[in-house]
Amino acid sequence: MRAVKGSDTAPEMTVRSIAHRMGYRFRLHRKDLPGKPDLIFPRLSKVVFVHGCFWHGHDCARGARVPKANAEYWRMKIARNKLRDAASIAALEARGWRAAVIWECELKELARVRKQLSKFLR
Ligand SMILES: [Zn+2]
Repeated sequence: MRAVKGSDTAPEMTVRSIAHRMGYRFRLHRKDLPGKPDLIFPRLSKVVFVHGCFWHGHDCARGARVPKANAEYWRMKIARNKLRDAASIAALEARGWRAAVIWECELKELARVRKQLSKFLR
């Protein structure tokens, strides 16, 4: 699990600094919440996940790339991660939280991420 959800990755730091500059207060990695969300906005009851495209099986070029060695192993592993991600979001919603996912590849367009975040958090 550590490898899948390493803390303090570069994409995560980028999203944190955007949210911070937008003036939002948030907490990090609350272990008591399903899926251990990356950013938690307690007063808004909202959480944000920052997902790596490969590990979480994003529907993009990078997410579609599977290593040739042990391809079946990776496919299974990523499929399990996707199931776990969906289950975490469902569990969060059942507890009254709303969740958004920001993908690593989306960080190429920071202006869009900023817009997406402010829409989600308002
Ligand atoms: Zn992606």
